[in-house]
Formats: sequence, structure tokens, C-alpha cells
Amino acid sequence: MIKAVRGTRDLYGETLFYKRWIEDTARRVLEAAGALEIETPILEEAPVFERGVGATSDIVQKEMYAFTDRGGRRLVLRPEGTAGVMRAFLEHGMKVWPAPVKLYYRGPMFRAERPQKGRYRQFYQVGYEAVGLSEPAVDAEAIALLIDLLRALGLKDWTIKLGTVGDPEDRARYNAYLREVLEPYKEALSEDSRARLVRNPLRILDSKDPKDREVLEKAGVRPLWDFLSDEARVHFRAVEDLLKALGIAFEEDPTLVRGLDYYARTAFEVHHHRLGAQAALGGGGRYDGLTALLGGPSLPGVGWAVGTDRLILALEAEGIPAPGAPALDLYLLPLDEAAVAEALALAEQLRPRFRVELAYQPKRPGKGIKEAEKRGARLVGFLGEGERARGTISVKRLDTGEQTELPREALFGWLEALK
Ligand code: AMP
Repeated sequence: MIKAVRGTRDLYGETLFYKRWIEDTARRVLEAAGALEIETPILEEAPVFERGVGATSDIVQKEMYAFTDRGGRRLVLRPEGTAGVMRAFLEHGMKVWPAPVKLYYRGPMFRAERPQKGRYRQFYQVGYEAVGLSEPAVDAEAIALLIDLLRALGLKDWTIKLGTVGDPEDRARYNAYLREVLEPYKEALSEDSRARLVRNPLRILDSKDPKDREVLEKAGVRPLWDFLSDEARVHFRAVEDLLKALGIAFEEDPTLVRGLDYYARTAFEVHHHRLGAQAALGGGGRYDGLTALLGGPSLPGVGWAVGTDRLILALEAEGIPAPGAPALDLYLLPLDEAAVAEALALAEQLRPRFRVELAYQPKRPGKGIKEAEKRGARLVGFLGEGERARGTISVKRLDTGEQTELPREALFGWLEALK
């Protein structure tokens, strides 16, 4: 039998109820802050990510689903949302909109990672971007909105980690320092990190390889924060003060290096305490200058993305149920052939106010009640010869067993009163 591609899943039932709820909640939270939804294509030209996410990032180096199409174009199934949103921002001249331009998106992302619980090759994100202002208040608001989303879903067991990756010049100075102090340990580093030492030593700090961890320990590497410019430091303190004023608790994390090259200054992550190995629910930061990498003017921006799949795992772990589909109000049961058309017409009339299903062929009452119970109906409506003659319907409550006969015109109001 043909199965879904490794690392991809079919979403249905409970999982999809969760996903829908998360996306609806995000829409409500983000639209209240003035964000506009944007849907960009899943397919993008490879340079959107090579330039935007960064050629040395793990995503571009190892995880992109890239291919050449029939027209010889190099295309990619998007591995993340920000670069594509910024490509669209430039393409549609949104820089003339009042700043900050707030956009949000949701949809599937694709990364060729080793699948495990909470890590898939097709996964879903909800993301937010605010473009055009470099004020610390825009960073603080972005973080607050992410927290608003978590709170609106009822999640409690998470923490925010906050750091700064400085400005590009700070990182260049730090990279030069790292090259110098790590050079003597080159042979002891993992193969990946030996390559990183040349291209982007900062990434070595992110490595989970025990060999690299040992080298970092031995070399006594100083933190990036020792290399921050005054401007970057002032910005970071201002974001912290604003968050404190909002009553938002966070943990400072000097080791926070986000996986993408485009971050500048503020970086943050939300971790959930019950997610095990894949604990990051979401993250983001400031990405001033990303627009310039994509060929536009250099504009400041800040944003985040949360993983919908991991939010679902977190909600399950905290025992928070998804609001499901509305329960079945009424199951209509034609007792003879002539009543099938009546049942169909009545069902149409009562929807969409009520959830109504019907049997498509006459059934005996006992059998029909069993069918109604299987579907979780509250009520069964019988339509037989007697009801037809009197213009009525007999309705039985499945919880109490109580039965009443009422005029068909009165049914809508009667159901309404019962809701
Ligand atoms: P990133 O774009 O890497 O910062 O990821 C943001 C969030 O997306 C993460 O915190 C995860 O919740 C989610 N995410 C990233 N990669 C995956 C994946 N392979 N499978 C499921 N969720 C993911």
C-alpha cells in the first residue's frame, strides 16, 4: 500500500481541530494588533532563502527541498516563512504603507530533517512580522503578541528566553575572535564545525556534538555579549525594560544563537517544559537589513514563528482539549419511502443553524435510534405516515427518552429553545 512520504502526516480529526483552533486564535490575537494576513506561495526561487536565510545556515546547507523545474529554474519548497514574506513585501511596494507594516501568515514549511516526535519534514507554522521601525517597543510588542497567543490557548508551562545577537559588525568582531581562540583546537572539532570555523564560527556555539562542546569548554570562549556595541546593548536593555513594564517574565540567555543568519539584535525563543527533545515552541527576533539581502532597500524588521505541530503537543501535554466540531443536534429518520425527501428538505431548512443528519432510506425506529446514538445525536426526529398526515414531526430526546410530537413549523423554534 502507498503511504504518506516519510516525515509528512495526514491531518484529520482531533489534530485538525487543534490546528484550526490555533490558527483562528492567532488570527484574532494578531488582527487585534493591526496585523494583516498574507499567504505567499510554498514554492519560491532558491535565492530567496540562500540570500535571506543565509548560505551558511543549516537550513540552506542541509535541509532545503530544492529542485530544478522543467523550465530550468531552481526552486525550493519554503523552509520558513520570513524570507518569502519579505520578498512579497518588496515586490508589492509595502514599504510605503504606514510603518510598522504588520503581517502574519500560517501554512506548511518543509525541511529535510530526521523525523521524530515534534519534528517533521512538512510542518506548520504561524508567524508574525513587523517591518519598518527599529524602536525597541516594536520588539517588545512582538514578544507580547506571541505570549498573548500562548495565553489565549490556555498554555502555562513555558518560558521565554531572551538574548541579543548584536549587530552584524559585533558578530564580525566576535567571529574574528572565535577563529582566533578556536584555531588551536581545530583538529578536535567535529567535521561540520571545522567547516564552520572558516565560514561562520558563531554556529559552532549552537553545535550539539560532544566534541565541539568539549572544545568550547576547554577554550573558555567568551560570550558574544562581551562584544556588543553600545547601541546594541542599549536596544537590548530597552526591550527588557519594556517587557518588565508589561509584567512579562523572561530568562536572559547569552547563548541564544538563532539558526538563521538574518537575525540582528533581539533574539528570543519560547520553550515548553513538557515537550522533551524538541522543546522549542517558537522563536524569532529582529532581522534589520533582510530586505537589503533580498535586493531591496535596507529596512528594519522583527518577527517570530511558532510551530503549530508543537503547540498541539503542548496543548495535549497540558490536558487542554481542542474545541471539536459542533455536536449533532438532530438525526432525522424517515419511516417510509415517501418521508426520505421530506427528511432531506427538513435537514436543509434547519442547517446551518443546527447540525442535522439523516438516514437516506427508511428504517425501523429501534434501528434508527442505534444509528443516531453511534453519531452522538441529542435528538431523533421520526417522519412517518401519521406525521405526514398531521404535518408534524415526532422528536425523541436520547438523554431522557422523552418524546413529543410538534408541528413542523414549530421545530426550528423548539430546537432553538433547547440549545
Ligand atoms: P525556526 O524557524 O527554526 O525558528 O522554527 C520556529 C518553530 O517552528 C520551532 O520552534 C518549532 O516549533 C517549529 N519547527 C521548526 N522546525 C520544525 C520541524 N521540522 N518540525 C516541526 N516543527 C518545527
